[in-house]
Amino acid sequence: MFARGAFRAAPALRSSFRQYSSKNAQEPLQANAGRQIAIAGVAGLAGYYAYSTLGGSAKLAAKQEAAPVAAPKVFTGGDQGFVSLKLEEVENINHNTKRFRFSFEDPNSVSGLTIASALLTKYQQEGQKPVVRPYTPTSDEDTKGYLDLMVKHYPNGPMSTHLHEMKPGQRLDFKGPLPKYQWSENKHEHIAFIAGGTGITPMFQIARAIFNNPKDKTKVSLIFGNVSEADILLKKEFEELENEYPNRFKAFYVLDQAPKDYTGRYQTGFITKDLLKTVLPAPSGGDAVKVFVCGPPGLYKAISGGKKSPADQGELTGYLQELGYTKDQVFKF
Ligand SMILES: Cc1cc2nc3c(=O)[nH]c(=O)nc-3n(C[C@H](O)[C@H](O)[C@H](O)COP(=O)(O)OP(=O)(O)OC[C@H]3O[C@@H](n4cnc5c(N)ncnc54)[C@H](O)[C@@H]3O)c2cc1C
Repeated sequence: MFARGAFRAAPALRSSFRQYSSKNAQEPLQANAGRQIAIAGVAGLAGYYAYSTLGGSAKLAAKQEAAPVAAPKVFTGGDQGFVSLKLEEVENINHNTKRFRFSFEDPNSVSGLTIASALLTKYQQEGQKPVVRPYTPTSDEDTKGYLDLMVKHYPNGPMSTHLHEMKPGQRLDFKGPLPKYQWSENKHEHIAFIAGGTGITPMFQIARAIFNNPKDKTKVSLIFGNVSEADILLKKEFEELENEYPNRFKAFYVLDQAPKDYTGRYQTGFITKDLLKTVLPAPSGGDAVKVFVCGPPGLYKAISGGKKSPADQGELTGYLQELGYTKDQVFKF
């Protein structure tokens, strides 16, 4: 469904994205420098005030207290096997998606997931083969006591149906972490996420790692395809990023069906080559540029070609190859 080239970017958006995608990632830093220095100044003064008003032994105690203690990890990989987690809460997100909160036995422990990685879930009906599917939690990696999954229901899909039928108090088996792409701060200057539907969750994990880390200055473009406005997951979170980091985060939404009060915020149709050419960082950036792709099979087919297997990225084909990106510049989740 993403293969048809029906969409044409509106001129205003087209020009704003062209400017954004061709700006140097460091420029926004200068623009923000005043604000950052102001924040650093306030923090510095607060630190100085605390230091200068404490007595000698209190200073030592404060120093000792500051030493970070690593929280225990629930998922340690290797030969750990599956870990059973209790479903604590279920929240309706939209007409076909729910958020599931699973609690850890130890409320002080963290998931242990690295960026970017997923978890395998397993469920088996009597006399049937086990169903195993990967999911990327939407909760922060340093969250203690629980993890959240945001899962869309596919009526014929065994795992998503099972999850959507689960009630608080029931348990599900998890295994991980399942490493996907090793992120480190400032690994690339400008990255782009091309996502369809729930394909957004691995992208959200990387975005959280970047924007939760003040040392990471990576610039991020999101191109997010959905059926309708109601299907756009994590929209509020992305709007917050856009407001807080207008020079480092830009989201571009493409909908199969435009909303009634369509004002130009969304583009109607499918993610096209023309759109990608306008909004992505240029392939000439080499290693400074990385494009991540995750979504339904049709999206991979049109944009990058599919993976051969979980461990084999397969050849780069589709719009990204036609636009001049190399296989090394693209990662398929
Ligand atoms: C790294 C990774 C992370 C993922 N994270 C999430 C997540 O956070 N939330 C989430 O809901 N899903 C996520 N998925 C997809 C998830 O693993 C399952 O594929 C999905 O829940 C469907 O499983 P199922 O057993 O219900 O249906 P399946 O039997 O696997 O599929 C049922 C039908 O749905 C189609 N389908 C499957 N997945 C998709 C998709 N993503 N988009 C469109 N059509 C699809 C299939 O082609 C099939 O027709 C992730 C996938 C990967 C690879």
